[in-house]
Amino acid sequence: MLKGKTALVTGSTSGIGLGIAKALARQGANIVLNGFGDVDGPRAEVLAAGAAAEVQVAYHGADMSRAADIEDMMKSSAAQFGRVDILVNNAGIQHVANVEDFSVERWDSVIAINLSSAFHTSRLALPAMKSANWGRIINVASVHGLVGSAQKAAYVAAKHGVVGLTKVTALENATTGVTCNAICPGWVLTPLVQKQVDAKAAEHGLSNEDAKKLLLGEKEPSMQFTTPEELGELAVFFCSPAANNVRGVAWNMDGGWAAQ
Ligand code: NAD
Repeated sequence: MLKGKTALVTGSTSGIGLGIAKALARQGANIVLNGFGDVDGPRAEVLAAGAAAEVQVAYHGADMSRAADIEDMMKSSAAQFGRVDILVNNAGIQHVANVEDFSVERWDSVIAINLSSAFHTSRLALPAMKSANWGRIINVASVHGLVGSAQKAAYVAAKHGVVGLTKVTALENATTGVTCNAICPGWVLTPLVQKQVDAKAAEHGLSNEDAKKLLLGEKEPSMQFTTPEELGELAVFFCSPAANNVRGVAWNMDGGWAAQ
């Protein structure tokens, strides 16, 4: 379905971004990976997922907190593949503290990586998408783009911002073939969340399994983690012709979290 298209997925060396990159590669899209840590493993996984369609996989190590890095990543992706047709703004970090104790540096990095990076990639990707009259911007927000949780001031503010940015981007392009939508996961068991499981285990003297149950039980009625594979399939749907008129939604996959 996506043969000949190019998808850039920020923060795709791990977790949800990697799951989305694999799902899009399975549909035939060439992929630009981004993120820190090991690149060879994720690259091999995405190549394997897209093997039948002979997809090409590139990597750019831009730090999403730096506008100049982002500009370089967008330029080099366009130089290599002609255009970014599908932009998935996924890179994100978490920091947990009460507002009065929240480190100013951490606030700035969460806002830069989780919110401002999506503004920069979008502003740089939109002109070519509009010229082609086709494009998909998928913002990985969070259920925390819809509701709050204590001790997550920067994350919740950034994710609510991402949902707002999604709506504005969708509206500005509503008469074109460019759509913009947000995905709002509840708990997904990635390294970002395992850190929070570890903190619960340490705080309450629990096993890893019991700490997971405690974490889910506080927020997620299904008592199940959403998986990167499930989120990948939602991204594929947003890229499909059936989603041509899905514009500006914030679609939760949260086990009922926001329904409460
Ligand atoms: P993760 O820690 O597994 O992956 C984060 C990715 O972002 C990694 O590839 C990392 O290298 C990259 N990254 C971090 N800082 C970066 C930077 N400055 N520049 C470039 N890349 C950077 O996390 P995840 O759980 O897969 O989270 C992905 C997205 O999903 C985030 O935006 C997160 O807020 C969102 N999310 C996660 C959950 C969850 O439960 N895990 C729930 C809702 C939303």
